Amino acid sequence: MSRNYLIAANWKMNGSNALVKSMCAELTPVLSQLSPEIAVLICPPATLLTAFTGVNALAIGGQDVSAEGAGAYTGQLSAALLLEAGATYAIVGHSERRQYQGETDELVAAKVAQAIAAGLTPVLCVGETLAERQQEKTQQVIAKQLMAVYASHPELLVKSVIAYEPIWAIGTGLSATPEQAQETHAFIRDTLAQLNQDAAEQVRILYGGSVNAENCSALFTQPDIDGALVGGASLKPDEFAKICLSI
Ligand code: PGA
Repeated sequence: MSRNYLIAANWKMNGSNALVKSMCAELTPVLSQLSPEIAVLICPPATLLTAFTGVNALAIGGQDVSAEGAGAYTGQLSAALLLEAGATYAIVGHSERRQYQGETDELVAAKVAQAIAAGLTPVLCVGETLAERQQEKTQQVIAKQLMAVYASHPELLVKSVIAYEPIWAIGTGLSATPEQAQETHAFIRDTLAQLNQDAAEQVRILYGGSVNAENCSALFTQPDIDGALVGGASLKPDEFAKICLSI
């Protein structure tokens, strides 16, 4: 089964108009070289979404989306607002939001459903802490995070992207090895296949956690790794361009 690739940048609370300009300048020639099976996505802070103009082949996305449709929710951004700003994707359930904003599996599930209902593609993040890995609970933790979203709504799977981001690998410089990542990606696909075999074969599963220009090629050769969600290295236009060209 051949799946398309997605290389996604998560700028977190970083960036500027100047970085948008230099990233667009760096990526414009790169995007014209990439085969159509490789999509590139940037998720900047929401205030910078509309600064991405004129690079048609580049997708942009939010770093979060509200579980609510509209109304009195100060500070939140609905899927409709993100769409109007040009976004076609939204990261949902990033571990930093689960940790610092206390997002539960139930809230994350509602956000995925809301994003899809409005026409955004959610990039659902799952992953275990170091303690959970050491206690050999990785699969249990990830199965719970996935099932909270898809068990009662398996039809959402075909419209989703999954990102496996082991929390111990995020921002630490300590990426999972290609073998470690592949093992978990295969587990994610097998778990989702219990809900819908075809959708599980089609869904793109990205790896995230200290991806850089040096380690990405080995990750991308793994059969169940369909791209990357890149944090720190996505703030350096030349390095992010190299990652896009490494598939
Ligand atoms: P990192 O972040 O590449 O800086 O580890 C990845 C992420 O949190 O999405």
